[in-house]
Amino acid sequence: MKLRSKEPYWLLKNGLIGTYPSLQKDITCDILVVGGGITGALIAYQFSKEGYRTVLIDRRDISLGSTSASTSLLQYELDEPLYALIKKVGANAAIDTYLEGVRSIEKLGSIIKSLKADCGFERKQSVYMAHSKKDAEWLLTEFEARQRIGLKVTWLTKERLKRKFDATGEGAILSETGAATDVYQLVRCLIEYSIKNYRLRVFDHTELVKVENLKDSCEAKVSGGSIIKARKIVYATGYESQAMLRDKVVDLISTFTFISEPLKIPSHLRHTLFWDTEDPYLYMRATDDNRILVGGEDEQFKNPERRDRLIDKKQELLLKKATTKFSGLKLIPDYAWAGTFGVTKDALPYIGEHPDYPNAYFVLAFGGNGITFSVMGMQILSDALAGRPNKFLEYFRFRR
Ligand SMILES: Cc1cc2nc3c(=O)[nH]c(=O)nc-3n(C[C@H](O)[C@H](O)[C@H](O)COP(=O)(O)OP(=O)(O)OC[C@H]3O[C@@H](n4cnc5c(N)ncnc54)[C@H](O)[C@@H]3O)c2cc1C
Repeated sequence: MKLRSKEPYWLLKNGLIGTYPSLQKDITCDILVVGGGITGALIAYQFSKEGYRTVLIDRRDISLGSTSASTSLLQYELDEPLYALIKKVGANAAIDTYLEGVRSIEKLGSIIKSLKADCGFERKQSVYMAHSKKDAEWLLTEFEARQRIGLKVTWLTKERLKRKFDATGEGAILSETGAATDVYQLVRCLIEYSIKNYRLRVFDHTELVKVENLKDSCEAKVSGGSIIKARKIVYATGYESQAMLRDKVVDLISTFTFISEPLKIPSHLRHTLFWDTEDPYLYMRATDDNRILVGGEDEQFKNPERRDRLIDKKQELLLKKATTKFSGLKLIPDYAWAGTFGVTKDALPYIGEHPDYPNAYFVLAFGGNGITFSVMGMQILSDALAGRPNKFLEYFRFRR
């Protein structure tokens, strides 16, 4: 599947982040991580740091899947508001996942700091705006639900939203916790650091084609015919994983983005992530190189050709919506692109074992804020492998 259109800005800005050899001989390791996007990079970092002999492979160049298209807002809020998620999955799973989202942003910030990774990471506030009076009603319920569990939130009236952010809306939740980064660069930093410090081995253009399960290990055959013998395989294979599974786990969505030419960004926009409840939604953030990134206009994914044909039209719509919402804002679009992401039935990811795949774990960080789920996956799998209990293994299990 083509996971994204041709020219996400990050690819043009950063170029190829690194090329690695393809695998040409048989090797042995403890953990084989399949997939070199942000999920695989974080998992490989975690396991190699813990001392496991870890190998990472990708059928493409590293990070050229969904990760290269990502707009990299780091938010604790999920695709499903907290009050609605509580009804869907119960209070424990919903509240724990929201609170873990906050911790994941903190954790990623600490990892980036310890790696001294130059990947545009910046902590930001986040503003979730009601598009209509009707939306303001449920958003206020959502605000109260978040306040009850101790999240640092403030309610902004229509007038305060206008005064503080020069934005039009019927009210908003202002959250203290959020961040943004260039996740494509972050993958490079994680992988290079792990190779240098923890002896991670990385092979690109190396596709997993077949797995033979032995008693306590497995043999993975890759393109070219070499065999990787591993104790465990971690599938960090993104949206293409659906093709491996009998159960339907994800609905695919096309999403659209443009980034503006550099401009003098007003201070009230620079340090804040914006999200609007309009259907389809709209989001916006400033980048560390003084551009404004606008995204949304999601629709059901049909095929990559249709998605990519819509880019120009969607860019126009996004521009119109953003400049109507923020009346003083003048944006000149520079690059536009599209990508495919997916949502699950309850907005939670799938992380853990699958009954059809012995000796393996999946980390399917599906959802609009998949990056925070990828971060959660690090500790969850670390516990799973060490035999430690972790409540998220229950919340995020397959066939829940
Ligand atoms: C336009 C867009 C905007 C987004 N914005 C945000 C955002 O603001 N915040 C956020 O948190 N999330 C966002 N997301 C979602 C986020 O980007 C994804 O959750 C994340 O990139 C997924 O990373 P991944 O590593 O799981 O998957 P991928 O990056 O797709 O990596 C999976 C890799 O597995 C490899 N692979 C698959 N099968 C095999 C095989 N058999 N053998 C070898 N390799 C294989 C693929 O080649 C691929 O490189 C956005 C997504 C899109 C498309």
